[in-house]
Amino acid sequence: MSSEECLAGAREAALILTGSRHAIAFTGAGISTESGIPDFRGPQGLWRRFDPSLASIDYLNTDPKGFWDFYINRFNTLNNAKPNRAHLALAELEKLGVIKYVITQNIDNLHKSAGSINVIELHGNYTTVYCMKCGAQYPFTLALRKYEEGENPPRCPRCGGILRPNVVLFGEPVNEINRALEVAALSDVVLVVGSSLTVYPAAYVPLVVKEHGGKLIIINLEPTDYDDYADVVLHCSASEALSAILNHVKGIMADK
Ligand code: NAD
Repeated sequence: MSSEECLAGAREAALILTGSRHAIAFTGAGISTESGIPDFRGPQGLWRRFDPSLASIDYLNTDPKGFWDFYINRFNTLNNAKPNRAHLALAELEKLGVIKYVITQNIDNLHKSAGSINVIELHGNYTTVYCMKCGAQYPFTLALRKYEEGENPPRCPRCGGILRPNVVLFGEPVNEINRALEVAALSDVVLVVGSSLTVYPAAYVPLVVKEHGGKLIIINLEPTDYDDYADVVLHCSASEALSAILNHVKGIMADK
């Protein structure tokens, strides 16, 4: 699809956003692919190369060394990534008062580095690790250094327990989901960016907004199962779509 075709809905999306009372963004791995972080299920997705059970609590419990061998590569990729134009546009939309919250499935910290303030990270954040025995928390760089020095699995400096990333693994509860669903229930617009909308309970967030009579805007390179349910769909890259929406929002606000 050409840029012109895929951006046809950008002005309508901007009109919906500027007319909203409480708009939120819901983001998935697709917003960060342009920062060099592979998504899970896209053509270059992580799960096309690895078995998802490598990111499970069962695997961490049974083979912590193997878990860290897998996870350390993720850490390095995430640590080298910078926010792209899509993250920056969402942060600017928040500053303009248009987006009230970003609810993300990503653990890459890129919304916060881009300047978004109200961020709910459903699956945690890679920047810290904690001890599975005493709960002490440390920057992930400590675990990284220990791993690079040959300590696998990396252990807690205080009690010797095994360190683990402060993220939600497969098989673990998503503790932030209730707060996210409360925010969703208050919202009249949800802008979904780069999510396949296949991972639950996270994917309930946009559905709750829609079921409460709100509007759904979807930005994704590929069709999703919810396109027919959406008010506006943009099949463009996240950075292209959000930059165009931001420009329209600024134009609409200047005309008011
Ligand atoms: P997903 O891999 O299931 O879907 C990503 C979606 O983004 C796909 O539908 C794809 O078509 C779309 N996409 C890819 N590049 C895009 C781009 N440039 N512009 C617009 N759309 C694009 O990811 P999901 O829906 O977030 O699934 C949830 C799971 O993925 C969560 O468990 C989350 O923790 C995890 N995840 C996070 C990261 C990260 O932190 N960056 C990376 C990989 C996976």
